[in-house]
Amino acid sequence: MEKRKGCLYIVATPIGNLQDITLRALEVLKKVDVIASEDTRHTLKLLNHYEISKPLISYHRHNEEVKTEMLIEKLQKGEQIALVSDAGTPGICDPGEEIIKQCINQNIKIIPIPGACAVINALICSGIDTNEFTFLGFLPLNKKSRKKKLQEIEKSQKTIIIYEAPHKLKNTLEELREILEDRKIVIARELTKIHEEFLRGTAQELLEVTQDIKGEMVLIIEKSSYIEENDLNNLTIEEQYKYYENLGMDKKSIIKQIAKDRKVNKNEIYKKFMI
Ligand code: SAM
Repeated sequence: MEKRKGCLYIVATPIGNLQDITLRALEVLKKVDVIASEDTRHTLKLLNHYEISKPLISYHRHNEEVKTEMLIEKLQKGEQIALVSDAGTPGICDPGEEIIKQCINQNIKIIPIPGACAVINALICSGIDTNEFTFLGFLPLNKKSRKKKLQEIEKSQKTIIIYEAPHKLKNTLEELREILEDRKIVIARELTKIHEEFLRGTAQELLEVTQDIKGEMVLIIEKSSYIEENDLNNLTIEEQYKYYENLGMDKKSIIKQIAKDRKVNKNEIYKKFMI
């Protein structure tokens, strides 16, 4: 008889509302031999809700290396394993990457079971451009790396998405206020939960309404209208105007921006376009 082949399922679980789990995810959780879970107590609540009883193995950032080895051995013996994180999609700011790399090395099959992910659900309801976006996860705490990321956000020509903790929000919004001017930000808070809300405004406006904010949140930041100096030099002033117009900016903001880019007085630009 041919030996059963091991397989690792990467299973997305709810980010709040327990009903946000697919029929396929439940089927997989019921049929696997073992579930590797970021927080076994948390996963147990989900399993109890769906009356699933399964052996759990804890698999988190601090035991990832040792547990990966142990799980790979099981997979090589032909066991089927589901990997789940505390919430949402494993591997997205959650453990998963290490075991997936090892499975690829060992030629072990990996199957994604799609579902909830905070970044996508925040983006789709943000009202900010969804065509192109960059997900930065949590901003680094290290001063130098953080400064580099903030510079990336300042110049980004794509929508930026970051995860943030409520107690760090004030500091982050203050930093963003320095670089974003009147670019829009949306805070998607407590997605799929009772207190779900979307707060929209500039960094300054959001600072005024988020003093005691709690819960989990995602920040969606509008792309920049910044153009590299080299690109700018290649555009005529009319082309530059068109460029900003296509970004959805109004006449007054465009004139202000062109004057800033060209380091000239805004009345000069104003005269040209107000005739
Ligand atoms: N793997 C998860 C995913 O698929 O989105 C993300 C895990 S990461 C450790 C946790 C962060 O995700 C939170 O700090 C918050 O920024 C975001 N997040 C998770 N659930 C959320 C929710 N219900 N509403 C808003 N943000 C959420």
